[in-house]
Amino acid sequence: MTVKVLINGYGSIGKRVADAVSKQKDMEVLGVTKTKPDFEAKLAVEKGYKLYCAIPDKERLKLFEEKGIPVEGTILDVIEEADIVVDGAPKKVGKKNLEEIYKPYKVKAILQGGEKAKDVEDNFNALWSYNRCFGKDYIRVVSCNTTGLCRAFYFINNVSEIKKARIVLVRRAADPNDDKTGPVNAIKPNPVTVPSHHGPDVISVIPEFEGKVLTSALIVPTTLMHQHTLMVELEKSVNVDDILDSIEKTPRVITVSYEDGFTSTAQIIEYGRDLGRERYDIPELVIWKESVNIVENELFLMQAVHQESIVVPENIDCIRAMLQLEEDNFKSIEKTNKALGIK
Ligand code: NAP
Repeated sequence: MTVKVLINGYGSIGKRVADAVSKQKDMEVLGVTKTKPDFEAKLAVEKGYKLYCAIPDKERLKLFEEKGIPVEGTILDVIEEADIVVDGAPKKVGKKNLEEIYKPYKVKAILQGGEKAKDVEDNFNALWSYNRCFGKDYIRVVSCNTTGLCRAFYFINNVSEIKKARIVLVRRAADPNDDKTGPVNAIKPNPVTVPSHHGPDVISVIPEFEGKVLTSALIVPTTLMHQHTLMVELEKSVNVDDILDSIEKTPRVITVSYEDGFTSTAQIIEYGRDLGRERYDIPELVIWKESVNIVENELFLMQAVHQESIVVPENIDCIRAMLQLEEDNFKSIEKTNKALGIK
C-alpha cells in the first residue's frame, strides 16, 4: 500500500519534496499546487504531477487554462483524497493553510520552518523527535539551519553530554532563484539581537537542551549555503577522533577536507554538481574535517548547510512517522537515504 501525499506549494522545498516522495516505495504524489501558471507549473505537469490551484477559487483556474497548462481543480477538489499534506507555501502562509484548510478538512499536515513552533503539536527532526511525532496530526519540520544544528548536536551528544553551546550562523542572503531579496553588498546582523531565534528553535526539537544553546546570526551576500561555527563545551574530556568517529556513524552527516579542495561553500556545491546530484542538492550536513578541534573541554567546528535540500529527507521521514508507516526512525532514515542516494 502506498500513502497519498499532497504537496501544497511547489517552490524550492515543495518541488524537492514531491520528487523525493515519488522515489519512495511506500508513498506517492497525489498532486502539487501552484498559485501562478508559470514555468514551474508547466514543468510540474510535464513531470507527470497532477496540478491544482493552491487558492480555492475556481475563477483562478482560468489563468492556468489561458496559458494552456492543464489544471485538475483547486486544492479543495483533492484535499479529501490526501492521507497527508506537505505544506511548501511561503512563510506564514503555512499557518493560514493549517487553520483554513487542513484542520477544517481533518487532514494531517506537515508545515515547514518558516512557521512557528507553537502552532503545531510538535517539531520534527528524524534523529531526535521521530518517536514524539509518531501518529501526530500537525507537525513542523524545523528550518534548514535548525536541522543542521540538530544533526550536529546528535553526533556531539553521542560522545559527551553538552554543557553549553555557542553558535554563530552565517546565513545565505537568498536562494539562487530569488531575485527580490538582499543584501547584495553588505553583512547584515539578522537578527541584530543576541541570542537569535535559532537556539529556541533547536529547543523545540530537543527540549532537554533548554538553557544550553545560544545562537547569533548574520546574513551575507551568497545564495549557495549557510555556514555555522560551533563552540561547544563538553562535560567529558574527548578527542578529535571521538568526534570524527561519531560523525562517521551519524546518517546524513559527511566530512570534507580543506586539503582536498573544499575551500569554501562554492566547492561543496561544485561537488554536488560533479556528483550529478539533481539540482546539485546536498541534503547531508557538511563538516570541514580540519575545523574539528578540541581546546581543553571545548569543541570547535565549522559546518555548511545546503538550505534548499537539507530538510527534504526530514519531510519524508516525518510522513512515515505521522502515518505510522515505520516505527524505527533509523529504518525510515535508511529507506529515505537509499531512495534518494544520500550518504
Ligand atoms: P518558495 O520557493 O517561495 O515556494 C513557495 C511555493 O508556495 C510556491 O510554489 C508558491 O506558488 C506556493 N504558494 C503561494 N501561496 C500559496 C498558498 N496560499 N498555499 C499553498 N502554496 C502557496 O518557498 P520555499 O523557499 O520553498 O519555502 C517554503 C517553506 O519552507 C517556508 O516556510 C520556508 O521558510 C521553509 N524553508 C525554506 C528553505 C529554503 O531555503 N528555501 C529551507 C528550509 C525551510 P506560486 O509560485 O505559484 O505562487
